[in-house]
Amino acid sequence: MSELYLTEVRRLPEERAFRLTWSDGHSAVLGYDYVRGYCPCAACQGHGTGIVRFHRPAESVTPTSIEAVGNYAISIAWSDRHATGIYRFDFLRQICPCPTCLGDRLPDDPPPDVVPA
Ligand SMILES: [Zn+2]
Ligand SMILES: [Zn+2]
Repeated sequence: MSELYLTEVRRLPEERAFRLTWSDGHSAVLGYDYVRGYCPCAACQGHGTGIVRFHRPAESVTPTSIEAVGNYAISIAWSDRHATGIYRFDFLRQICPCPTCLGDRLPDDPPPDVVPA
């Protein structure tokens, strides 16, 4: 998984979601609020647990800017003024909610806790 990188980050304003495409050809739609809720920064997740939990945002958000971080991540600034989240490409894949990645989980199951690779 560590070799994965994103080849495209497309905003879908009408769906309020990103379409992400990875270097292995996998492509999926991740909602803005879903990605915001998984912000892995220490302010959102606390220190030292090593677990990223989904925290439903208090308000619906949209991304105001997206920037590359090295060749391994993107940072997203959100309309709620939160901008410290750095989302690794492989982490975004770990939270991918598409039917293939969901595995045995159901679409309505609560978003799972994730231990970043
Ligand atoms: Zn955060
Ligand atoms: Zn997927």
